Amino acid sequence: MIVPVGEDAAAGDPHQELHDRLVEAGLLFSTPVQGLYGRSETYQGVVRAIDAMVHRWALELAATTIHVPPVIARSTFDATNYLQSFPDLMGSVHIFRGTDREHAELVRRVEAGGDWQALLEPGEVVLSSAACHALYPMIGGRLPAGGRVFEVSGLCFRHEPSTDPARMQSFGMHEVVFVGDPDGAQRHRDRGLEVALGLLGDLGLEAEPVPANDPFFGRLGTALATSQLEEELKLEAVTPIFAGRDRTAIVSGNCHRDHFAQPFGIESDTGEPAHSACVAFGVDRITIALFARHGLEPASWPDEVTAALFP
Ligand code: 5GP
Ligand code: ZN
Repeated sequence: MIVPVGEDAAAGDPHQELHDRLVEAGLLFSTPVQGLYGRSETYQGVVRAIDAMVHRWALELAATTIHVPPVIARSTFDATNYLQSFPDLMGSVHIFRGTDREHAELVRRVEAGGDWQALLEPGEVVLSSAACHALYPMIGGRLPAGGRVFEVSGLCFRHEPSTDPARMQSFGMHEVVFVGDPDGAQRHRDRGLEVALGLLGDLGLEAEPVPANDPFFGRLGTALATSQLEEELKLEAVTPIFAGRDRTAIVSGNCHRDHFAQPFGIESDTGEPAHSACVAFGVDRITIALFARHGLEPASWPDEVTAALFP
């Protein structure tokens, strides 16, 4: 039987316990900031294997592969209303564009332990909060019949400091995205989630799809979350990582309707506003789930898991 981490330590904090075990095993390196880690070669080898697994599926769909940077254009961010929905999660990149004099003041403030950040100004980029956000401004105009499939992966940032090693501020996301007609988008999300559940099953991670909502901010956000749930626009594959706690989402499947395609003028082959849908693998979360489930030494993981991961 699979015993989720923390079953025998229910009295303590299971998040902290798994965090400490991963750090003591040298798999993660902690930093002065919660939820920000260095990764060991063993850990990153598992991440690469999961990325390769998703890539094999994307190749079957004849996807175009795009590795995206951890920052996106501020203009992309503005066009997709991220600040209206998730102001508390975002991170903005600020830069110094001052004169010699202002530089002297900057250094003076740094050395005095003062507020040097006030001398910076916003740069043209913000931190990316989902891999697929970078994609839409890269696709222009009208799509071919049948739409297009893209594989998009990169590091994402969300300001959610936590002792839970499965809730990182900087984490890998690997998505398979469809852009085209509404039916195609819905089918991609539904079929894609089934494929994802199969892949997770091969890794010994039993996961179940459940309707979910994004953590929209504030009072207005409650209404957005309710309609997202009612219309089943978001499904998450959840798996137990911590005994006695909520299950953790390791993959999500999202129907965006025309939210991302419309601002960038992306049209289906018939000239209608295109719809998009993504299946997003949280590669760090899946890695953490694997260590929690199968132990801290990949060499001693079950043969079936190793075979699926390192074919
Ligand atoms: P979503 O855009 O659905 O919130 O995120 C897509 C996937 O990224 C999630 O299913 C999850 O696997 C992963 N993810 C979301 N937030 C975090 C986080 O705070 N830390 C880590 N490691 N992964 C996350
Ligand atoms: Zn996405």
